[in-house]
Amino acid sequence: MFLNQEIVRKKRNGLALTAEEIRFFVGGITTGATTEGQIAALAMAVYFNDMNMDERVAFTLAMRDSGQVMEWRSMNLPGPVLDKHSTGGVGDVVSLMLGPMIAACGGFVPMISGRGLGHTGGTLDKFDSIPGYSTVPSPELFRKVVKEIGVAIIGQTAELAPADKRFYSIRDTTATVESVAMITGSILSKKLSAGLDALVMDVKAGTGAFMPTYEKSVELAESIVQVGNGAGTRTSAILTDMNESLCPVAGNALEVRQAMDYLTGVSRPARLHEVTMALCAEMLVLGKLAPDEVEARAKLQAALDSGEAASRFSRMVAALGGPADLLENPDAYLESAPIVMPAPALQAGYASATDCRALGLAVVSLGGGRRRPEDAIDFAVGLTGLAELGRQVAVGEPLAMVHARTQQAAEQAVREVQAAYIIGAEKPAANPVTYQTIRPQ
Ligand code: URA
Repeated sequence: MFLNQEIVRKKRNGLALTAEEIRFFVGGITTGATTEGQIAALAMAVYFNDMNMDERVAFTLAMRDSGQVMEWRSMNLPGPVLDKHSTGGVGDVVSLMLGPMIAACGGFVPMISGRGLGHTGGTLDKFDSIPGYSTVPSPELFRKVVKEIGVAIIGQTAELAPADKRFYSIRDTTATVESVAMITGSILSKKLSAGLDALVMDVKAGTGAFMPTYEKSVELAESIVQVGNGAGTRTSAILTDMNESLCPVAGNALEVRQAMDYLTGVSRPARLHEVTMALCAEMLVLGKLAPDEVEARAKLQAALDSGEAASRFSRMVAALGGPADLLENPDAYLESAPIVMPAPALQAGYASATDCRALGLAVVSLGGGRRRPEDAIDFAVGLTGLAELGRQVAVGEPLAMVHARTQQAAEQAVREVQAAYIIGAEKPAANPVTYQTIRPQ
């Protein structure tokens, strides 16, 4: 017999909880037996006294098991079930290409994606900009698309990790989000409910990252790798740079266009390409679809060159209700903004730093993200042609093109983009794209 208040007291006093205590407490989050006050108190106790790795594994599994956990074994898929998750960024359109690329290489990707949070974009919002595409298909359709095409990217359902939904909303209002132990459990419980064989985590570091410092990003990556593996899913993490937008484009429909241009080979911005290839290669190796990174990259390049990855994207879009010819006729379906205006550099020099968070917020203020969870999104707006760090600009040369609904919103975004760039006299050192890969020891 356990009592929630005794569990909270134990953690308050700095002691480690047993797996049974954690299961009992988390079980009550979904049934309502654990009160809001007890959840808030435990969150604060964990914030101050932390959880060791065994506690984190038990916490993750209990939250995963609070709802439905998908199983794929009975479908006899001829390849591993793989996924990627990112802590969120600006211009991070990787998932749209990664899913089809992995499918083209023999993996199966049942990706449950999220909405934009704060200044970061969300994969789900990007797919919502495609008319007809259903991000909430029936479970049967979801499984069928994963089986037949190898990839389906959809939204979170209420059945997956419901304990996290309640726990997170209480953490959000009690200043207890910033705990690596709880962030680990929150992210992994949702991801692992998709029944994965392997997961690769993209942990961002930099001015546009969710974690406030490089060291904290490393701490989160190490925690996710240890806990993911401890929970029975092969997991590794790559630390990637978010000191500038990952690609020159930020905004929902604009990013869908970029993703399609990437898949068809029209445009593959170097930083976006490197992060996409690094994450995909790690997935293929973890999923045993390639013996090492070199072969994995060769396989991925072949999937791009042959058009197979682009074809998987097209087929997924059509199977989930979107237009079958989106790749061929994007203008017929994707909204575009009525006003497109340059954000001119106010001084000459080199783009030496960006406040990447501020660039993300400029997209939000254009209407491309939400200020409150219930806000509607304007899919058409955003930024294109963002100057990469190290680029030399003359006075008046665009730092980006602003795509806006109104003149006033455009002018405001122009000022925000200008303020987000630091223009220096010296050419800055090249900005790294990936920092390190963390694998289980
Ligand atoms: N994203 C999540 O899903 N959970 C957290 O706790 C923080 C970020």
